[in-house]
Amino acid sequence: MTVKQPDLDVLIVGAGFSGLYLIHKLRQIGLSCLALEAGEGIGGTWYWNRYPGARCDVPSFQYSFSFDKDLEQEWEWSERYAPQPEILDYAEHVAERFDLKRSIKLSTKVVSATFEEQNNTWSTTTESGDQYASRFVVFATGCLSVPFAPTINGLENFSGPVYHTGKWPHEQVSFEGLKVGFVGTGSSGIQSLPIVAKEAAEVTVFQRTANYSVPAHNSKANPEVSKQTKANYPELRELAKTTLSGVLTYPNTQSALEVPEEERTTVYEERWADGGLPFLGAYSDIMTDLQANETASEFFKNKIRGIVKDPATAELLCPKFPLGGKRMCVDTDFYQTFNRNNVTLISLKEEPIECLSSNAVHTTNRAIECDALVLATGFDAMTGALNAIEIKGKDGQTLKDQWASGPQTYLGLMVNGFPNLFTVTGPGSPSVFTNMLMAIEQHVDWITDCLEQMKTKGQTLIEAKQATQDEWGQEVQRAGNQFLRSETDSWYNGANIEGKAQVFMPYMAGLPAYRAICDEVASENYRGFSIT
Ligand code: FAD
Ligand code: NAP
Repeated sequence: MTVKQPDLDVLIVGAGFSGLYLIHKLRQIGLSCLALEAGEGIGGTWYWNRYPGARCDVPSFQYSFSFDKDLEQEWEWSERYAPQPEILDYAEHVAERFDLKRSIKLSTKVVSATFEEQNNTWSTTTESGDQYASRFVVFATGCLSVPFAPTINGLENFSGPVYHTGKWPHEQVSFEGLKVGFVGTGSSGIQSLPIVAKEAAEVTVFQRTANYSVPAHNSKANPEVSKQTKANYPELRELAKTTLSGVLTYPNTQSALEVPEEERTTVYEERWADGGLPFLGAYSDIMTDLQANETASEFFKNKIRGIVKDPATAELLCPKFPLGGKRMCVDTDFYQTFNRNNVTLISLKEEPIECLSSNAVHTTNRAIECDALVLATGFDAMTGALNAIEIKGKDGQTLKDQWASGPQTYLGLMVNGFPNLFTVTGPGSPSVFTNMLMAIEQHVDWITDCLEQMKTKGQTLIEAKQATQDEWGQEVQRAGNQFLRSETDSWYNGANIEGKAQVFMPYMAGLPAYRAICDEVASENYRGFSIT
């Protein structure tokens, strides 16, 4: 076994937006780096999730890098919420423009990384057995990059194709004339179902939990709005940085309970008509107070009852948990799809799937003929990609063992016992609660500032202290406990995967508070880290 590139400063795992920006920044501070990427292409999320209807739900003008002013000005978004191929083109453009590809090795899956204490070096091994030695390792492996497929009895007997939204084929998939079984009604399922249903002969949707979805009201980009946005980009980005989620919306500071019902309904109607995630900002306490939340969730349920013509189907589609408990979905014609006569909804709570045979899904009540299956069943989120790699720190301890009862980190950036290992948007940081491109830029800037400072001072080793990590864990739980989301089963707390430790993972105090803490920690000589 030969060690490749023995003089490497930083080995990066992953070449999604996090990996790309890392390469750019590391080069700027004069550190050598290489990114290993499992996929045959760059782009991460936008490389893998090619299902019909995939698009962002943070407006494209905001779901984009801010680090380079010319990049901001030259790129044209075609829609309010850009479709997956366009976001992938954007990632390719970024890679070409900053000449990043020469530092990326594609089709290279990392299987293990070991900290060699005798020389303070990380030794990273790929699936094909190649080894890389580096002083630092940064896991830019993504929070939603390990697709989760449930175990279904008899899956091996099913003769048709089975597609997972998170690992969609590159070639065109046609459902024309087919009977499709469709499992999962989270963001991915809600985006893709309407398009699959238009093409297929029949679609049977197997729903375990009814979800909330707000219309996207997507539209072509308005040239005048694009011009204005570009003219004011610096101010708009700065303003977005002051919001909790890094998205420019128009949050209302009033409580839902302090206004008369009529006024509240008008506000909800306006937000519904405008579309998208800003609905959650209609009142300040929708996400935190059950009574306030009920006013919004009742509004939602009445919308569903108004759209879906069959009352029994409409009731099945009405969620039973608080709005925003799971991540809210954003759709184009999701509820309308259930008015099509080729679409049937089955509630798995009433009739669970027992097994698959060669051409049918068998529930406890009936057999439903299917030619193809779509699994929109989500991801082993936040910890999945890290736990899939055997990461060994000091004294041979593995990250997976240390995280057996849930992830522990300091600031979502580092882990005690794993010196010189950083994670981008790791558990314990705002990450998936925010506009991820803003979270990625903040993390990469912090990591590279830290490495630059270490380089200047001739320091070689950084590690999170156990005590500060423990305190941070408590802070993450404290912040999470204020939100109804922490009480609702979802991928945010590991509840979507049987046997996974159930711990609320993102830091919910908002990006401005988190950024202030990170900056303060850095300015106090990296408080809570030991640096030698
Ligand atoms: P990823 O894009 O997940 O990239 C990680 C990369 O690491 C992948 O390419 C993966 O192949 C690679 N990798 C993982 N493990 C290994 C290994 N062992 N060896 C080698 N390579 C490895 N966020 C928003 O803010 N707004 C949105 O509108 C939005 N929409 C989304 C839509 C979908 C369908 C999904 C799934 C997520 C969405 N997200 C959205 C979250 C999205 O994941 C982030 O916005 C962002 O793209 C993450 O970038 P990343 O580089 O951190 O991770
Ligand atoms: P998800 O939100 O976890 O949804 C998975 C769906 O599959 C849920 O309806 C879930 O039901 C169902 N499911 C899981 N296991 C099942 C089983 N064993 N049997 C039956 N049903 C099962 O995953 P996702 O839709 O892929 O989205 C994940 C995240 O990615 C989103 O929350 C969002 O952050 C991001 N995303 C964003 C967009 C966007 O609009 N930009 C699009 C896609 C994804 P339960 O609810 O009962 O678990």
